[in-house]
Amino acid sequence: MKTPRIGAIGGGQLARMMTPPAIHLGIEFKVLAESEGSSAAMAASQVGDYNQLEVVAEFAKTVDVITFDHEHVPLSVLQALEAASISVQPPSRALAFAQNKLHMRQKLSEFNLPMPAWAEIKTAQQLDEFIAEQGGVAILKTPIGGYDGKGVRVVRSSSDASDWLINIDDFGGSLLAEEKVDFVRELAQLSARSVSGEFAAWPLVETQQVDGVCAVVIAPAPSASEAVLAQTADIAEIVATSLGVTGVLAVEMFEARDGRILINELAMRPHNSGHFTIEGSITSQFEQHLRAVSGLPLGSTAMQADHAVMVNLLGVDEKNTFVEHFGTAMAKHPVAKLHTYAKSARKGRKMGHVTVVADDLDFALAQAKGAAAVLLQGI
Ligand code: ADP
Repeated sequence: MKTPRIGAIGGGQLARMMTPPAIHLGIEFKVLAESEGSSAAMAASQVGDYNQLEVVAEFAKTVDVITFDHEHVPLSVLQALEAASISVQPPSRALAFAQNKLHMRQKLSEFNLPMPAWAEIKTAQQLDEFIAEQGGVAILKTPIGGYDGKGVRVVRSSSDASDWLINIDDFGGSLLAEEKVDFVRELAQLSARSVSGEFAAWPLVETQQVDGVCAVVIAPAPSASEAVLAQTADIAEIVATSLGVTGVLAVEMFEARDGRILINELAMRPHNSGHFTIEGSITSQFEQHLRAVSGLPLGSTAMQADHAVMVNLLGVDEKNTFVEHFGTAMAKHPVAKLHTYAKSARKGRKMGHVTVVADDLDFALAQAKGAAAVLLQGI
């Protein structure tokens, strides 16, 4: 078998973490990075602007498959590559729904998938009507360009969003209003679908956010009922097949207090909720993504132990890169697996993560949080 040559657009930590499995499998893996010294610098074969078709097309000539570290490449660029018979995975027709939250809601409605009540908003009056219907409070989102909670706001009146309404053309002419879900927890269902249609899901996980940013992931999601597990796995498979997703798909969901499981958003690439799979699963999400986009058979998604806990390392300030505390953390927490993304430090930035895999959940939580505290505070 000829091993595929895979090119990822975007030089962030996700491309960085695709590199080790590519090495193991003998896959020639290249990255089109946006800047020198990116997180995925060791695989970066080219630095250039992914908004420019000529740059991306030149990069695509050197590989068999194009895939992604982020969902920001303009659809027009991807469509032009596809028109030139270049394999783009996931394809533009699927990725379109990860780029625009409003289009995602519209598309998932066609399949009767469970979602918070939502509405497309073009005017202040429409927003005030929706807020009134929702009992005086709603969530408002910019359909494009949001990440880590930026572009998400709680609104009680259209005046809370006048800045967005004035600049609505910057967001594609519409905003997305949603029911403010009263949730008991957030969940994520990670899965992969290969270009040949093979599908595999990892265990459902619980994700805990702080200030809209993922802080902790617990795999599998503690005490999830059989009904919830069946429903979330079904949702992932319906989304993957009906949208034609290839590669890793993350479906972020809410478990509402009234028992409803509701889809929040989709990511069509390896995802923060799946970093635990590097040590926690027989096949990591990064290896699975490479297999899936190049048509190789998928690997087992079974856990290596009963539990895995992942704690994100978020930037404290401009100075703390965590790495100076790696020695202390290693000495105090030898079961913790430490990951740096080699990024310049900035407050709130995802700088790395810690994973602990164990048969005892309390032990895994204590060790992962303990190691993260050493790295964050140097104690
Ligand atoms: P981003 O794309 O920036 O990650 P999300 O749409 O995932 O934005 O929202 C970020 C966080 O805001 C979610 O993890 C959740 O905690 C909260 N949130 C988003 N939508 C809703 C909603 N409809 N109801 C309640 N909370 C929400």
